[in-house]
Amino acid sequence: MRSDKINKIFQYLSSAISNPTTELKYQNPYTFLVSVVLSAQATDKSVNAATKELFKIVKRPNDMIKLGEKKLRSHIKTIGLYNSKAKNIIKLSQILKEKYNSKIPKNFESLTSLPGVGNKTASVYQNEILNMPRIAVDTHVFRVSNRIGLVQTKNPDETQKILESIIPKKWLKSAHHLLILHGRYTCKSQNPLCDQCKVIRLCNYNNKNEEDKKNISS
Ligand code: SF4
Repeated sequence: MRSDKINKIFQYLSSAISNPTTELKYQNPYTFLVSVVLSAQATDKSVNAATKELFKIVKRPNDMIKLGEKKLRSHIKTIGLYNSKAKNIIKLSQILKEKYNSKIPKNFESLTSLPGVGNKTASVYQNEILNMPRIAVDTHVFRVSNRIGLVQTKNPDETQKILESIIPKKWLKSAHHLLILHGRYTCKSQNPLCDQCKVIRLCNYNNKNEEDKKNISS
């Protein structure tokens, strides 16, 4: 897709989404990292509900270690995969305390070496906390960018690589949130609200569906 068209798409998205930022509630880089680990295969809403009380008593790795796995489990038991997430968060907090003086490492390799922190979580962290132009690809970013025609990809890693190389520099910081929020509220998985969508004229989705219909009927 041509860069002027990509630029237009992000202009439209940013005019429709006034505050492209995370919906996770956090107090510092550590609580953000914990929230993102918890948000794997869970909604931001469910994570915020669970961390509301948790973050009143836990603000640093040492607080989490003191709380312990059992009590952490009871705070997050409404979130999917809470057993393994509790294990990872305790381990991650121990590593941060022992190896990084309770700070969060900045580089990608160190971040992804932490338990429960994969490519997506590390990219979300670098984008939100370090203001780096990373485009973490979750289910919304994957669906929306393929529907619009920004990419034609089969997996998140390939999608991230291409998006980070084709999106104009000025949109790289906000693109992740613009695509997520657009996917969450407009370009929904089951029934995309195309008639309310600002990028409809630049989007491949409806054109492709029309072509498919023609091919079936011919
Ligand atoms: S036109 Fe429809 S499919 Fe395309 S981005 Fe908008 S909501 Fe999604």
